Amino acid sequence: MFSNDLGIDLGTANTVIYVKGKGIVLDEPSVVAIDMNSNEVLAVGEDAQGMIGRTPGHIIAMRPLKDGVIADYEATRIMLKYFINKVKSKARIVTRPRVLICVPTGVTDVEKRAVLEATQTSGAGVGYVYLIEESMAAAIGAGLPIERATGSMVVDIGGGTSEVAVLSLAGIVTSRSLDMAGEELDEAVITYVKREHGVAIGERTAEELKKSIGCICNTDFKEEREIRGRDVITGLPRNFTINMGEAAQAIAEPVSAIVDAVKFTLEKTPPELSADIIEYGIVLTGGGALLKGLDELVVKETGISVKIADNPLYCVVNGTGMVLQHLKHLKNVLTTSKTLKV
Ligand code: ADP
Ligand code: MG
Repeated sequence: MFSNDLGIDLGTANTVIYVKGKGIVLDEPSVVAIDMNSNEVLAVGEDAQGMIGRTPGHIIAMRPLKDGVIADYEATRIMLKYFINKVKSKARIVTRPRVLICVPTGVTDVEKRAVLEATQTSGAGVGYVYLIEESMAAAIGAGLPIERATGSMVVDIGGGTSEVAVLSLAGIVTSRSLDMAGEELDEAVITYVKREHGVAIGERTAEELKKSIGCICNTDFKEEREIRGRDVITGLPRNFTINMGEAAQAIAEPVSAIVDAVKFTLEKTPPELSADIIEYGIVLTGGGALLKGLDELVVKETGISVKIADNPLYCVVNGTGMVLQHLKHLKNVLTTSKTLKV
């Protein structure tokens, strides 16, 4: 009867939706474009993303989530309504699907409730809404044996937050969340280019650059790349060449903050579970897991083996999909807030 349940990974950078029995049906940036004059929503997702940094003054392209939590409630509702309706029409769902949606680990009850209510009242016609912690979904999606009495560590690096969690017996034993992830790396690249080359570059150029340099902090890495930006003095467009090895140093600091969080969480992990983690290794998920050289850096800093999950960008949503398939059996992995009335 509930064959059209939805699993939603509501990320700071991307929203991904899974339809039970069908798989991933939507993957779009979490962006909304608004006309400030008329207060009208002009575009959502992919279409809105194309407007970032290119809009006239009265049109703003914004991300409704910041650091993993809802920053703009109305925009989040509008975005969810648009995405859920798109999925319902693509997958020809006419009923009110049950929804399993993710919340970051360790957020407050108020923040959880905001996600729950935004989904329920989005106007897209959904049934019962369940919540699951992102680290739990990521671990399930990465195929970790979360139900066994074995410790597993999953490090999910998204756009706004990085979450480190140790799981055992279908529960989160220790976790740490920090506001240092993909977007901060992009900002570090922007700052570096402005300081060293006197050129302002946009978010998307910085992101592309980050993806190609990674954290190969090796000054022998002599590859160069030509980039276009705006000269901060003349204000005119200018091409310049950037040395990739040097640029990698730009993100060294935020990357080491993420690695420090992994080390800190390991220190806080009960010894029996640490022994399991040493045996099984640390698993990286989220878009940041694809940062070149990050896996090696974590190995070097912790002495523990590291695996990049298959399809790191889809671990969380695939985890929700697996929970939906086995909802009866896996109900104990869901999270609720005592104050929530559903
Ligand atoms: P969220 O869950 O916050 O929406 P995602 O898990 O979707 O985030 O990851 C998005 C982040 O991953 C972005 O900051 C993006 O720049 C980064 N990312 C994606 N691919 C790569 C890559 N190949 N190298 C480095 N970072 C990447
Ligand atoms: Mg995420």
